[in-house]
Order: sequence, then C-alpha cells, then structure tokens
Amino acid sequence: MARRKKLYEGKAKTLYEGPEPGTLVQYFKDDATAFNAEKKDVIEGKGVLNNRLSEYFMTGLTQIGVPNHFIKRLNMREQLIRACEIVPLEVIVRNFAAGSISKRLGLEEGTPMPRPIVEFSYKDDSLGDPLVPEEYIIAFGWATQQDLDDIVALALRVNDYMSGVMYGVGIKLIDFKIEIGRVYEGDFQRLIVADEISPDSCRLWDMESGQKLDKDVFRRDLGSLADAYTEVARRLGVLPTNVTHAPKPTLIN
Ligand code: UDP
Repeated sequence: MARRKKLYEGKAKTLYEGPEPGTLVQYFKDDATAFNAEKKDVIEGKGVLNNRLSEYFMTGLTQIGVPNHFIKRLNMREQLIRACEIVPLEVIVRNFAAGSISKRLGLEEGTPMPRPIVEFSYKDDSLGDPLVPEEYIIAFGWATQQDLDDIVALALRVNDYMSGVMYGVGIKLIDFKIEIGRVYEGDFQRLIVADEISPDSCRLWDMESGQKLDKDVFRRDLGSLADAYTEVARRLGVLPTNVTHAPKPTLIN
C-alpha cells in the first residue's frame, strides 16, 4: 500500500493528503503541549476523545448552518476535512475572565465579561502568538475588514452554540479559541470554521463545583487530563465504544 503524504505536523494533529482533491485527513495525536510547547506530555487516549468531540461540535454547527471544515470521521483518530487556507489568527471568544485576560487586566478568574469579547492573536509560535488589534490584521493583510466582520459573526455563532450545548450538560463555557479557513468556490471566497473544537481549545468549568474539565488540568497540574476529557465526552454521550482511557487490567489472584 502506498504511504500517504504527510502535509503538516502540528503540536496535537497531523494533516495528510486526502483521498480527493480539496480534502485532507486530520489525525489527532495524544501529545499535549502548553506554554508554547515548553510543557509536553503524551496523554493516552486524548487524540481519540478530541477526534470524537470535534466531530460532535462541528456536526452540530453544520446542523445550525455554521460552515466548517468537517466532512466525516474516518476512524478512531482521523477525520476527513475540507482543505482550506488557514487565516493566521487565533480567534478567541471570552464569556468569563480566565488565563491571559485575567493576568493582563487583573480580573479574578470567573468574572463575567460585560458581553462576549472576541480578540485575535497572530499565529506565530516563535513570537508566542501575540495579541493583535484589528488595525495590525488589516494593515499587514492577514485579513480584510470584511473578513473580520464575517469572522466575528462566525465566532459569536459558535459561542452561542457551544455555550448552549455545554449548559445542557452542566458545564460553563468560559472561553475558547477557533481558527478560520478560506475556501474558494468559483470566484467567491468563503470563511469556514477549521482546525478543531475540543477541550484542548476551550475552558470548561463544571457549573456546580467549578471543577476544570479542559486543558488547564494539564497546564496547571490539576489531575488527570484524560479523566477530564472523558467526563466531557461522557456527559455529551459521545464516548467512543472502545474506551481508550480505561484503568489497566488488574491481576485476579
Ligand atoms: N487557546 C488555545 N490555543 C492557544 C491559545 C489559547 O486553544 O494557542 C485557548 C485556551 O485554551 C483558552 C482560550 O483560547 O480556552 C483563551 O486563552 P488565553 O488567551 O487565556 O491564553 P492562555 O491562558 O491559555 O495562555
């Protein structure tokens, strides 16, 4: 069998050439990184959970008419996606303060935002993904004003969807990050949600206890990341049939 072509390897995912033009295969790895890859580990089963969770969220977005890259899941770790040109921005939406905005503005984590805040970081690991104003984005040509208006509208729709889905399973959506891709249809360009939506790129707090069910568990050494993601998947009813993160078998005497 011919080896398929690897097109890009990122921190948590690898992209391969897809079976048809305009498609890619997105493979979810078990690698976890934080603080611009200064902290690294392999979390057994994370890739399987994120593949399922991203499928679940993207499918829901399709059902409410929010365009995104997801076509279909292929297996435990891979999904078929639409190839797109990634806009070099991380689009962050915040409902409550946490992480970098808490540090920057001295806000206690959990403080509600006056309204959902959409902000942009320039995607460049060597610079540590710096926060950038719209002025930079337009002046340097990373996106046009029209693109930004469309991106904000998309991000707010994703926020409403994700907040509602999470609320339904007793989880508060604190913030999240999405990436946006451009696809070309004839002479027209369309912006779609790309990359992934998973607990790697969201902050999710249990509504009752405030327990963190996202990558902060790894960033801040708060316990088992696989357990946290499994809990999110379990509440949403999307646990893979072959449970990947099961306790090791014990010997029966
Ligand atoms: N985020 C992400 N990738 C990044 C930076 C942020 O997925 O490279 C997500 C992060 O998980 C959180 C949200 O975006 O849900 C806001 O992150 P923040 O700006 O607070 O940065 P952090 O505290 O993670 O450095």
